[in-house]
Amino acid sequence: MNLILMGAPGAGKGTQSAKISEKYHIPAIATGDILRGAIKAGTELGKAAKSYIDAGQLVPDSVVIGIIKEYLASDECKNGFILDGFPRSIPQAEALDEMGVKIDVVLSIEVADDKIVERMSGRRVCSCGASYHVAYNPPKTEGVCDKCGAALYIRADDAAETVKNRLATFHAQTEPLKEYYSKKGLLVTVEGQEEVADTTALVYRALQSFEA
Ligand code: ADP
Ligand code: ZN
Repeated sequence: MNLILMGAPGAGKGTQSAKISEKYHIPAIATGDILRGAIKAGTELGKAAKSYIDAGQLVPDSVVIGIIKEYLASDECKNGFILDGFPRSIPQAEALDEMGVKIDVVLSIEVADDKIVERMSGRRVCSCGASYHVAYNPPKTEGVCDKCGAALYIRADDAAETVKNRLATFHAQTEPLKEYYSKKGLLVTVEGQEEVADTTALVYRALQSFEA
């Protein structure tokens, strides 16, 4: 299954992509995680991406398209993949089409803006990619990752002001992709729920008909 996961920042893409990855044994490619990793490692890519991420804007298309090309060409993605956070603009979607990548389904997790703001303020993340919420999805031990034991942290771009910018960017540049994929007959939507497990149940059900 070749899947694109869409949704506003904080809609729960990362959390649900981990669940889908577990169930279907396909890797999740999260452009946000890749970019944050590059920033942490101090690479050229990281240096190019940092100012955009900090401002809540999109990193230039050419940069992320290059990343995706490389990942999708790897053996790991042979039997399917989840794209979490890509494409995020019409030019990115067109680039994906030009790569000749066949997409089976585009799943959009719908969450209203006011809910998003509330969620971001409680989000805690781990450098391994795991994501938690202090109230809705707490780790077993406060501040510690269940998966790898590392200390959790608050993402710099989860600051209230930056969240506003990210939401504006989402509505202006990413949301038009829903129409783009709907026209291709690929769009499936799921209402994001308060409880992670409830959303996962809806996601699994939505994907059932796309199983190989
Ligand atoms: P969220 O979906 O919660 O906003 P991500 O971790 O997916 O978080 O992305 C964080 C930031 O990384 C985005 O706000 C953006 O600046 C950058 N980014 C991630 N994916 C892309 C992409 N496909 N195109 C451009 N910028 C991206
Ligand atoms: Zn971890």
